Amino acid sequence: MAWYPGAVKMELQPESDAQAAIRPTQFIVHSIVAPWTARRTYEYWRDSTNLESHFGIGYAGDIAQYIGTETRADANAGANRRGDGTGAVSIETASNTKASDAWTPEQIEQLVLLGAWLHRHHGIPLRICRSHDDPGFGYHSMFRQWSTSGTACPGNARIRQFREVVFPAIVARATDTVQGDDMPDYINLGAQPYELRPGMWDSIEFTSEWADEPGQHADDGAVWARGPARFTGTISLAIEDLPTGAVLQVRMAEFDGNTYVHGHPIHEVIGTSGRTYAVIPLTKRIGAGRRMRVRLCSQAADPITITSAVLTALIWKES
Ligand SMILES: [Zn+2]
Repeated sequence: MAWYPGAVKMELQPESDAQAAIRPTQFIVHSIVAPWTARRTYEYWRDSTNLESHFGIGYAGDIAQYIGTETRADANAGANRRGDGTGAVSIETASNTKASDAWTPEQIEQLVLLGAWLHRHHGIPLRICRSHDDPGFGYHSMFRQWSTSGTACPGNARIRQFREVVFPAIVARATDTVQGDDMPDYINLGAQPYELRPGMWDSIEFTSEWADEPGQHADDGAVWARGPARFTGTISLAIEDLPTGAVLQVRMAEFDGNTYVHGHPIHEVIGTSGRTYAVIPLTKRIGAGRRMRVRLCSQAADPITITSAVLTALIWKES
């Protein structure tokens, strides 16, 4: 039983508990031949008939769900629940009493949002059904098996809208959302000035957390990326007391839990007169369980001061 978060839940009983489960593979749209709000449609299902659709939508874009999408509803005859347990999710949409008018922009927007959710949540494929039992999107009169005695539902104007506007928009919206999920998280961490002794590799401890969208960095920790993930960014360093010509080595260090497993290639920062500044790229993919730090090793004779270390990165978490 699944409830669409974008709809107002108006659960129909006893149908919601009593009717058989389905695995939803289709989405079929209807016109209800009445200018009803989603609530009025609910009252009709509840009070005047034992039939129902999963969803209802008013002219103003008000949308309600009456039956979970993994329970059979009765709007599509043979598509309600087939012998293999698959079935169609149905929506009734407010129309005039001849079912001859077009959907309003508000109705179209809600149909598109719901269609994209059904694709994401139930894996209904982004295509128009090619046969009565083919997974995909359709409208009531598309196949004879979907009605008891034939129908023109949802009407010619809406059939045209379904093909030219609604279904293409569902595809676009569902695809957009996939890209949205690929948006990287942003992290921006800094370190307090600290002294670095020569001749040993030491991890930068990040004490300032200006941004850590993915929650990769623990407070006052050296770890800034946790696998599985891929990332790209920079570490910016300002260094004091690094003699002219002396070398500070910088590398990404990969840990498995707290165990050091791999040092990535070394970048060398050469001391200049006055403070020394460097911006070093960080791009890599790390596997599950791996954690990334940045380590420094000074080749100078005496301790130096890391006056500033700022890490800025985009991180794509993998699942
Ligand atoms: Zn219909």
